[in-house]
Amino acid sequence: MADNQKVAMEDALRKQRAVFTAARPEPLSARKDRIKRAMKLLKEHGDDLCKVMSADFGNRSPMQSMITDIAGTVNFGKYCLKHVDKWSKSEKRSVQFPLGLLGAKAELRYEPKGVIGILSPWNFPVNLTFGPLMQVFAAGNRAMIKPSEFTGKTSLMMKELVEEYFSPDECAVFTGGPEVAAAFSELPFDHLVFTGSTATGKKVMEAASKNLVPVTLELGGKSPVFLGESADFAKAGERIAMGKMMNAGQICLAPDYMYVPESKQDEAIHGVWQGTANMYPTMLENEDYASLVSDRHFDRLQEMVADARNKGAEVIEVNPGNEDFGSSNARKMPLTILKGVTDDMKAMQEEIFGPVLPVKTYKAIDDAIDYVNENDRPLGLYYFGEDSGEREKVLNRTISGGVTVNDVIFHVSMEDLPFGGVGPSGMGSYHGVEGFREFSHARSVYTQPKIDVAKLGGFKPPYGAATEKAVKTMMK
Ligand code: NAD
Repeated sequence: MADNQKVAMEDALRKQRAVFTAARPEPLSARKDRIKRAMKLLKEHGDDLCKVMSADFGNRSPMQSMITDIAGTVNFGKYCLKHVDKWSKSEKRSVQFPLGLLGAKAELRYEPKGVIGILSPWNFPVNLTFGPLMQVFAAGNRAMIKPSEFTGKTSLMMKELVEEYFSPDECAVFTGGPEVAAAFSELPFDHLVFTGSTATGKKVMEAASKNLVPVTLELGGKSPVFLGESADFAKAGERIAMGKMMNAGQICLAPDYMYVPESKQDEAIHGVWQGTANMYPTMLENEDYASLVSDRHFDRLQEMVADARNKGAEVIEVNPGNEDFGSSNARKMPLTILKGVTDDMKAMQEEIFGPVLPVKTYKAIDDAIDYVNENDRPLGLYYFGEDSGEREKVLNRTISGGVTVNDVIFHVSMEDLPFGGVGPSGMGSYHGVEGFREFSHARSVYTQPKIDVAKLGGFKPPYGAATEKAVKTMMK
């Protein structure tokens, strides 16, 4: 990376922070105006962005992109606009008796942090950039963005559009590869949001720690699907197929593997097979079905399947149109179900992030719960079934970032629910009021009454009877 790029980023941060500081306190109308401009940018250039996303992927349905990256993000902007007044109100807090009677006051103010860095991935390149941006703006901050190099055309277009709709002291985009990303994550931001893999998340946190920059890490992991005996296997299969096949499985919350009752394995697999065939009777020429983003990602998945096959898994390709995927260079891969998987297979060790679905079986649901608990805490967890006792057992005995019951992924689309991981799947969250608070500093303000509270409370030397009385009261 050229040194001048690093200098340019440092310079931009310094300028943004200076303008931010000078402009305080900004009216809420300024925050709303930024959110509205971000929405306007997406509305006016949604079609262009969908086209470049498709070009970046090789193929990615512009209709899908319109839902996941454009409309969904505009809608989230609307949600932020609707709630920002309420979110940003200061809160009265109570003071210990009898301070209230003496005129003491405590309040909590949600104040902007300053300049927030956003490092975003390629899988939903617009949504995972502009989504956090809406709440970064709602909380009154400025933003610097480094989008992914894997979707280079989209990143470039986002940069050009941001330059058109925002001044550089409000929002600035920097493009480039891992070296630029590494330099970006070393900047002394007031907060840094990273969306990407757990491995890169560790590097980002390490870099941020040098300046004690607080981080929100939106990472990945192996999100399991529990199918209970009481599940409707046809319906569950359809929903799992939908979640697994959208964006060709390149979703952080994609159902990673299925855990099914031993006696229902074939029924469960058939459900997913049928669900896939209903949505994608063919895939190669089908615009609705996305390509894998790069040759590297494609090869990784091919190797993962080969590794499972070599180690004894049964490989079932869901290829309803009997297409010859081998002769195509479209980087498209059919859903590949792996039966009889073992822990030594890559497919059970790495996050899959593509159209490969391992199936594990259990005799008792407790076995599946134990397995999940023995592994990294996942980003999402899914339970299908009508047995509320079993559902609560699964939920109460496992830990995950979030949960969808009787479907997959959907909890992320609930704007009022915080979205984030736990442990290796991430820390912090956005969406909901939690996102606003993540990007705000909760500043405690206490106002002392005229009376000498320190003396009254026995805190002021010389210590004596008042001190003893205070201690006794507190220890009672
Ligand atoms: P990635 O970790 O490879 O890259 C993400 C970003 O990090 C890119 O912009 C890249 O430039 C940057 N980067 C690369 N090296 C870096 C370094 N040394 N220091 C700082 N930044 C660096 O992730 P990806 O392949 O783009 O995305 C896939 C992963 O993201 C999956 O693991 C997926 O689960 C996860 N993900 C999580 C969410 C979520 O919201 N939790 C959403 C989407 C994707």
